[in-house]
Amino acid sequence: MSENAPEKVSSAIRELVHANHILFDQGVVDGFGHVSVRHPLQPDRFLLSRSMAPGLVTEKDVLVFDHDGAPVETGGPAVYLERFIHSEIYRKRPDVVAAVHSHSPAVVPFSAVTGTKLRPIFHMCGFLGAGTPVFEIRDYAGTGSDLLISDNRLGAALAESLDRGPAVLMRGHGSTVVGSTLRQAVFRAVYTEVGARLQTEAMKLGPVTYLTEGEALATTNTNNTQIDRAWYLWLKAAEKRSMAT
Ligand SMILES: [Zn+2]
Repeated sequence: MSENAPEKVSSAIRELVHANHILFDQGVVDGFGHVSVRHPLQPDRFLLSRSMAPGLVTEKDVLVFDHDGAPVETGGPAVYLERFIHSEIYRKRPDVVAAVHSHSPAVVPFSAVTGTKLRPIFHMCGFLGAGTPVFEIRDYAGTGSDLLISDNRLGAALAESLDRGPAVLMRGHGSTVVGSTLRQAVFRAVYTEVGARLQTEAMKLGPVTYLTEGEALATTNTNNTQIDRAWYLWLKAAEKRSMAT
């Protein structure tokens, strides 16, 4: 039976809460980082928590934001400083349904070195394709910024750097990963962190053989059919350890 309109919104909110808890439980976000999903009925809007630690988000904390990253209801609670990451990616990429921004630790070194790209060394990271672009905020905000994507202009520049890809690293800061579903974005965020960890380990051992373009594509297609398997495991684990009340 298909869901009616209010059910679509409430189930999107519920999934977004689950995504917040999974990302915390899997070590992708800590007190910081955020995940959003495009509004299921109004594609120029998106759902995102108020400003708080993702592991503590509940359904009542989820707010609606407009295409400029402003909360639709004014006078509400404090909102994330970097909500423009989400608004500008949704503006530029109609194919994107969800976005995860994090400071997941194994990824950060790849944002800060030159000459080594984050690339897929194993099949679960095939979506990283030929390598992940790095957004250099100095090109837009000079040498004295706080590195945050704190306005529309910086959000648009980040979205430009993401281009058509699934992920962009942010120099000295973290990364942003997108998906055509919320579950795919979460899956990719988890495996971006895992892949970074494995690539760092592999590079200590010797020259690394990366997936070819064909392998990257084929593994991505296969993994896209397996996302729910990971999602329900991660959700169960997150619920067991949940601190949200
Ligand atoms: Zn950030």
